Parts: sequence; structure tokens; C-alpha cells
Amino acid sequence: MKCTAINGVKSLEVKEIADPVSVDGRVVVEVKKAGICGSDIHNWDAGAPLGLVMGHEFSGVVLDPGSRDDLKVGDRVTALPISPCGECEACKSENPQYCAVTWNHALGLSLDNPGSMAEKLSYRADMVRKLPDSVNDEEGAMVEPTAVSYHAANLANIKEGAKVLVIGAGVIGLGCAMFAKKAGASFVAVSETNEKRGEKAVTLGVADKFYDAKDPEFAAKAMTDTLGGFDVVFECVGIAPAINSGIFTVKPGGTMVLVGVSQKPEAIFSVMAVTKELKVYGAIAYTVEEFEKCIDMIANKEIDVLKFVDDIVSLDDTQKAFERLTSGSGTEIKILVDPKK
Ligand SMILES: [Zn+2]
Ligand SMILES: [Zn+2]
Repeated sequence: MKCTAINGVKSLEVKEIADPVSVDGRVVVEVKKAGICGSDIHNWDAGAPLGLVMGHEFSGVVLDPGSRDDLKVGDRVTALPISPCGECEACKSENPQYCAVTWNHALGLSLDNPGSMAEKLSYRADMVRKLPDSVNDEEGAMVEPTAVSYHAANLANIKEGAKVLVIGAGVIGLGCAMFAKKAGASFVAVSETNEKRGEKAVTLGVADKFYDAKDPEFAAKAMTDTLGGFDVVFECVGIAPAINSGIFTVKPGGTMVLVGVSQKPEAIFSVMAVTKELKVYGAIAYTVEEFEKCIDMIANKEIDVLKFVDDIVSLDDTQKAFERLTSGSGTEIKILVDPKK
């Protein structure tokens, strides 16, 4: 089958690999749509792991149901791409997202589980979830990133009338903004260094205002607009200037949810976090319940995630899609890959 794999720094190659088969009860799926995610971009940037077939956001059709008696050939599915052990304290408390091994064998993030940027994939049967007919293939591929935002929003416990800032208007940030509005926030702002993306958040209707993160007056303006700071800040970038802009603009006693990821230590103004007595949460992935709830919310049209999808490209054009997503000046939020295109 055809796939695209990492073959160097910022480089993908399209190649042929063996079709996956159902061993250990795994479900084999023909991929319909695969999402390109920020964590894929990290791996692409680093050129590692070499040979990795990325893609952990997908929709597809069952080719072999493996050990799943409730699935049949032709069923439409997606999957939680995580690999929890099922035995540890985190798993037993229904928080597989912080199980110590949950990323060790994750779909499209580990070499032993080639992902959805391929014509087919196989994955552990217990993580596969059926998609209702009212969720189309594009929406199916959006379940996973939507669940990331939903989990962050749930941790933030947003109250009716809250003022919310989202730092970074990528798909996770826009999802957080969407869920903040849904929870009844009265003012949702985004800050972005890419003006086109920032303005797009307002155009898409998930944010009321865009602040240019490059503007030295941004924090001061935000403090004036909010009469003293945001109740909740979602930090979806992961670098010091972004994290600090959140610490500056969140109100005393407010909540910060750290969603952005940095692979190195970041220098933050901890004194301000201390004196404001901030509640700071890290947010990673989702619970099983949250993932399933996102399928339901998409199926019931409670949320519209298709508006974040900008383009659907072929495996041959996936390299170009990564370049577009990292240009720093493009408008693209989410690009999907269609392996049959
Ligand atoms: Zn992702
Ligand atoms: Zn575990």
C-alpha cells in the first residue's frame, strides 16, 4: 500500500509498504481521511522518528474487524490513538491520557503503530470507535483534535459570562474558543502572531476579538478590554512569550490551562503566577468519555468542526501541506489527507 513517511528533517517520502494484517485481534481499516496535527509537525520538523508513518486523527472503513464482535467489514470508524496499559492508577481512574505508557505505542506517533497517512492502518481493537452515519469522513477525522480542545475546556470549568483568552489560533486553540462560547463565555479573544489566522478566528465566529501577539501593547489593551484580566486563559503555543502573555493577562485567582507543548524548559514569570494565585492545569489528550462525547456532539450538530478544515490533499501533496501549515503567514488551520486522492 501507499503511505508517506518521515525521511529527514522537514521531509516526507511517499513509498510502498506492506499492507497491515490483523494480529492480536487488531482492527484493520481503510483510511478515508487523515488529519495533519501539531504533533505531526513537531516530528516532521525534527525529522524523527525516521521512517514514521504519521497520522493519529482519522476516519476509515473496517476491512477486518479483528477481535471486535460488534464490528463488521464496511463499518465506518475512528479510534483513540493512545495506548494505555489499563492497569495503572491513571487508567483505573479513567484517565488513560496520563498513563505512563499511553504514548509509547500510540497510533502514528510510534514506529510500531504506523498511522493514518497511508491507505490502510491497523490498531488495537479496544481503541476503535464506530462513527454514526451523521458524522461524515471529514468530521470523523476531526474527532481527535476536537476531543483535545474539549478536555482542555472541561478542565477550565468555564462559567457563564466568563472572559476567555486563547493564545494561539491553531485548530486546538480554535476548538477551545468554540467550547468556551458553548459554555457561555461572554467574551472570547484570541492572540496570534499570524494576523491572518487571528482574524480568521473572528470570521469563523469562535472569537469576538483578535489581539496581535506581536503588538507590545497587547497585554495592556487586553487588561483594559476585560476590566482587569481574563477568567480563563488557554495557552496553545507552548513558548515563554506566549505563556507569559497569559500570566500577565489572566486575572488574580484565574485559571490557566497549558495545552501548548515545549520540549525544553521555558522561562516564565512565576512570581506573577504566585502573587495572582493562579490555578494552572496541564491538559493532554482526553478521557475515553470525552472522546466519545465529541463523536456525539458532531453527530448531533451541536458543534461544527468542518469550518476548521481548509483543504484535503493527496499523499503526494502531504509534504507541501506541512510546508503550508508552517509558513507562519498562511490562513490554513487544518489540512486533511485523503490517501485515495
Ligand atoms: Zn493530534
Ligand atoms: Zn495505565
